[in-house]
Amino acid sequence: MTSETNPSVRTRFFDTKIEFLKGVGPQKAALLNQELGIFTFGDLIQHYPFRHEDRSVFHKINTLNEQMPAAQIRGRLREWTTIGEGHKKRLVGYFTDGTGLIELVWFQSVAWYEKNLRANTEYIVYGKPVAFGGRWSITHPDIDLVTAENEQGGFWQPIYPLTEKLRKKFLDSRALSRIMKSLLEISRPYIKETLPENLVQKYRLVSKADALWNFHLPQNQQGLHQSQRRLKFEELFYNQFRLIKNKLLHKTEFPGLVFSKAALVKEFYDKHLPFTLTNAQIRVLHEIHEDLKTGKQMNRLLQGDVGSGKTIVAFIATLFALDNDAQACLMAPTEILTDQHYQGLKKFADLLGVTIGKLTGSTKKKEREIIHKQLLDGSLHIIVGTHALIEDIVQFKNLGLCIIDEQHRFGVAQRAKLWAKNPRISPHMLVMTATPIPRTLAMTLYGDLDISAINELPAGRKPIKTVHRYDAHRLSVFGFLKEEIAKGRQIYMVYPLIEESEKMDLKDLMDGYESVARAFPDVPLSILHGKMKSQDKDYEMGRFVRGETKIMVATTVIEVGVNVPNASVMVIENAERFGLSQLHQLRGRVGRGAEQSYCILITDYKISKETKLRIETMCRTNDGFEIAEVDLQLRGPGDISGTQQSGLVDLLVANLAQDGEILKAARQSAEAILTEDPDLLQSVNQPIRAHLENLRKEETNWSRIS
Ligand code: ADP
Ligand code: MG
Repeated sequence: MTSETNPSVRTRFFDTKIEFLKGVGPQKAALLNQELGIFTFGDLIQHYPFRHEDRSVFHKINTLNEQMPAAQIRGRLREWTTIGEGHKKRLVGYFTDGTGLIELVWFQSVAWYEKNLRANTEYIVYGKPVAFGGRWSITHPDIDLVTAENEQGGFWQPIYPLTEKLRKKFLDSRALSRIMKSLLEISRPYIKETLPENLVQKYRLVSKADALWNFHLPQNQQGLHQSQRRLKFEELFYNQFRLIKNKLLHKTEFPGLVFSKAALVKEFYDKHLPFTLTNAQIRVLHEIHEDLKTGKQMNRLLQGDVGSGKTIVAFIATLFALDNDAQACLMAPTEILTDQHYQGLKKFADLLGVTIGKLTGSTKKKEREIIHKQLLDGSLHIIVGTHALIEDIVQFKNLGLCIIDEQHRFGVAQRAKLWAKNPRISPHMLVMTATPIPRTLAMTLYGDLDISAINELPAGRKPIKTVHRYDAHRLSVFGFLKEEIAKGRQIYMVYPLIEESEKMDLKDLMDGYESVARAFPDVPLSILHGKMKSQDKDYEMGRFVRGETKIMVATTVIEVGVNVPNASVMVIENAERFGLSQLHQLRGRVGRGAEQSYCILITDYKISKETKLRIETMCRTNDGFEIAEVDLQLRGPGDISGTQQSGLVDLLVANLAQDGEILKAARQSAEAILTEDPDLLQSVNQPIRAHLENLRKEETNWSRIS
C-alpha cells in the first residue's frame, strides 16, 4: 500500500499539529489553538471562509457606481491630511488612478496610517465606494502595496472567521490564506473523495480535493462556484444521511406500543366533538393513527399554523393511548401555555371521565407529591406540564405518548429524556409546532421525523385584516378601537420586551399602559408582563379570558398559544422591533372567533428597508409558510426557530435560505442509498463508510475538548 491509499496514513497526516506547517510555528499555532480551536491540519483545512472578495479586476474611478458592493482600484496617494477633532477626527487620503479622484477615510488607527502611508507609491485599495456631493469615498478601505502577488488581480480573496486578537497579531484573512496555501500544497495526496463516484458524476460535482483548493484559493468565479456547490452538497448529504438513517433505525429497530383499541376515541367522536373537524385535521389524525397501530415507535412532527386546531388533534391522540392502558403527557414551554392546554383538555377529559393533571414549577410540594404518586400507580391518565415533567422524579406506570408543543423552544435532549420515561418501550412522540418552518429548515431540523401538516383553517374564519399605521396616527387607531369595544370585542396591545430585564422596555410598557388608560377612561384594562408573579399573571389573564377586561396591554408573554376567541384586534406597538415570525405569532392571537379580526402594526415614521419588507409581508398574507420563507430569506437560518439550541443544524458552507435545490438532491441521494444499501456494503459506497467513521472520530475528539 502506498501512503495515498492507506487510510491510517491519511488520518495521521490530517492529525498533524499545525505548528509543523511551514509558516506557522509555535506562536501562531498557540494563537490559532486558543482563538479558533484549530489544532491540526484537518481543523485548518476545514476552517472555511464565510465569503470571498472579488479581487479579479481593477476598477477605474471614472466608472464607479453606487450599486457596486465593493471596488478594487490601483493608483497612488496624492496627499493626506487629518480633519476634525475628538471622535470625529479622521485621516483623509486623496487617491487617484489617473481617471479621477477618490477620498480614502480612516477614523481608526489614524496615527499609524499617518506614519506609514507613502507618497508616490503604487497601492491597491478595496472597499465600498460611496458618492457624496459629487465626491467618491471609501471608508476604512483595505490598502496594500502593489506586489508581484497582487498586481495582476485575478483572484478572489477568502474572508475567514477571525477574532480581534488574531487581527491584532496580524493573523488576518490574507495571512491565513498564505498559511492555507502551504497546507493545500502538501495535502493533495491525502485528500480523499468523500462521496460515491456515481453521485459525483450524476450531479457533476468537482472532486473533494479541487473543491478545497478552489474554496480556499479561488482563481475565478466559476471555480469558486463549483467548489461551493460541491462542499454544500457534501455537507447536506451527510446531514441528511444521518437523519434518515436515524429515522429508518427507529422504524426498523425500535418497537412501539400497539394502540389498536379505540373505545374512548369513538365515544368522543360520536358524542362530544364540539365542531366538525376540518379535512386536514382528519387526515392528520389518520396519519397518527396509522403510526400508532404499527408496533413501531412514532416520531412525528405536526405542523399547523396558529389557530389551525392542533389541540383537539393532540387530545384525540392521547385518547388512543388511554384506550390502550397507557398514559399520555403534554409538555409546553411556558406556564401560561401549560395552563391553557390544561383548561382546554380538562373540559374534554371531564366529559369522558378520564383524569388529567397539571405539573409546573409552581405546583405546590404537596400537590406535586400526589401527582407523582398517581402517575406511578396509573390513576392519573394525562399530565400537562412544563419542563417540570422531565425531572427524573416524574415516573409513569406506562407512558405511551408524549406530545411536545412548540418544540423549537425545547432541545433535542429533552425529547430524549421523555423517551426514557418508559423503560420498557419508548413512548410514541408527537411534536407540535405553530411556527411554520420553511421546507428546507424542516428537512434539516426535523429530518428524522415524519411530518404532518394541518394546512387548512376551520371553516367560517374570516382572514385577519392587517394594516400599517405610523405613530402619528395613534388617535385614529384609538378611535377604531373604541368602536370595536362598543361592539363587544376585546383588544390586545403588545409592546416589545425583548429582554425581560430591560428596564427601558418595561418603562415603554408602563407608559403605554398609562396612555391607554387615559384614552379609555371607562374601559377596564389588564396588564401582563414577564416580571409579574405567576399568580398575578394568571389573575389578569383570567379576567381577560372571562371578558371582564376589554384591553390587554402586554408584552410578548402572550405570544404563544393564548386563546381568547372574543379578542378581535391585535395592536402591535413598535412593530419594527419584532421579527416576522413573532409578528405572525402575535397576530395569531386574534381571528379565533367568527368576527372580522384586525391586526394593526404601529411603527415610527422612519423605518429601514428590511422593516418595510417585514411589514409589507404581514399586510399581504396570512399564510404562515409564506411568511416563514420571507423570514428565512431576511434573517438566514441561524436565527430561526432557535436552531442553534437544537444542535442539529450546524452547517458551515450550506445556507438553508439559498440551497433548497441542493438540499433536495442531497436528501434524495441519501434516501436512495439507505434504501438500496442500508449497511453500505457495496464498494461504490465505501467512501461514505470511511467518511462517517472520520466524522465520528472528529466528534468524539471535540466532545473530549469541550
Ligand atoms: P392551534 O393550532 O393554534 O393550537 P387551537 O387548537 O387552539 O389552535 O384551535 C384554535 C381555535 O379553533 C380553538 O378555539 C378551537 O376550539 C377551534 N377549532 C379547532 N378546530 C376547529 C374546527 N374544526 N372547527 C371549528 N373550530 C375549531
Ligand atoms: Mg396551540
